[in-house]
Amino acid sequence: MSLPYLRPDLLQFTAYAPHPQGNDATPPPAAIDQLDTNECPYDLPPALKQRLAWQYQQEIAANRYPDGSHGELKRAIATYVQASSGLAGITAAHISVGNGSDELIRSLLIATCLGGEGAILVSQPTFSMYAILAQTLGIPVISLERQPETFELDLEAAERAMAQAEVPVRVVFMVHPNSPTGNALTPAELHWLRHLPETVLVVVDEAYFEFSQQTTGADALRRPNWLVLRTFSKALRLAAHRVGYALAQPPLIQTLEKLRLPYNLPSMSQAAARLALAHASELLAIVPQIQAERHRLIEGLRPYPQLRVWPSQANFIYARPSQPQGLNLDTLTHRLRQQGTHIRHTGGGLRITVGSPAENQRTLARLIPWLES
Ligand SMILES: *Cc1c(COP(=O)(O)O)cnc(C)c1O
Repeated sequence: MSLPYLRPDLLQFTAYAPHPQGNDATPPPAAIDQLDTNECPYDLPPALKQRLAWQYQQEIAANRYPDGSHGELKRAIATYVQASSGLAGITAAHISVGNGSDELIRSLLIATCLGGEGAILVSQPTFSMYAILAQTLGIPVISLERQPETFELDLEAAERAMAQAEVPVRVVFMVHPNSPTGNALTPAELHWLRHLPETVLVVVDEAYFEFSQQTTGADALRRPNWLVLRTFSKALRLAAHRVGYALAQPPLIQTLEKLRLPYNLPSMSQAAARLALAHASELLAIVPQIQAERHRLIEGLRPYPQLRVWPSQANFIYARPSQPQGLNLDTLTHRLRQQGTHIRHTGGGLRITVGSPAENQRTLARLIPWLES
């Protein structure tokens, strides 16, 4: 049914499906290994959940709006970034907090490109939300293919695309390390990004920073056209609470503050984020285990030449069939789903989240029979 008051360009979109469903009627298995959205495999420890429940009972007034300034949370984030990234200059004035980094991406698009002012540049395969959110705002997306061997951006093609763009490119979005391919930005890519004109905003999405330990935070402090995105949804185990943040110089941060909804972050989410930061070293103690398990998954798949597996700096691995016609990835992901292992078929390959040791064991046990023939 068409609704004649709607923008006609919205007709071509479908709502985002985080866990695309198979199309048969097989009932789902009782236990599911959710390895398709790159979350941490472990919930908050029970003692921290109890703390949070206690705070809800004793300290949070449900009838009152949340802290719309995010003051205490921003100061806690600044302390965490200083300590974990060695960025002494970061203060609350360098931080804006969003309802997930997705909200910040939308605010950035509104601030830079809305109303025909600009286009964005992304390099595929990459995080899908940049292009999805841009398109819902009528913002043109220039998509470049990454190099097939290394997943690096083709810098000459990027130069050309920017020079020829009908609408000027105002934002380049890069994930560091990239999802789904797991590669961090190279020195050549960083050099290119650092030499873009100041009319172009560089957004470096560091959602997987805690796993890679690589950051461009110093650039965000130094350069007016550089912004780093981070999230509590991955290593800090708070995907349920939707908290992301941006690091940039204060004038850009103030612009994001103008654009966001006044009470964008519920009191419980602010409390959960502050609690996670107060216990960051405890929560992040699992990072070495995830890194070791990542290695185990990669090594476990290495003997099977049908599948090519790339190194990864994040909490997932990425693999593609060595021969284009070699494996039917749709069928494979569907069968794994029937067995209870959810992985992501994206960008021409498989993105598999590193889970708990038991989950990873099942991933290998269910995947390897496909590779033995
Ligand atoms: C998971 C992820 C995020 C997190 O988004 P939130 O809205 O903060 O949950 C952001 N960027 C990338 C590249 C991701 O993979």
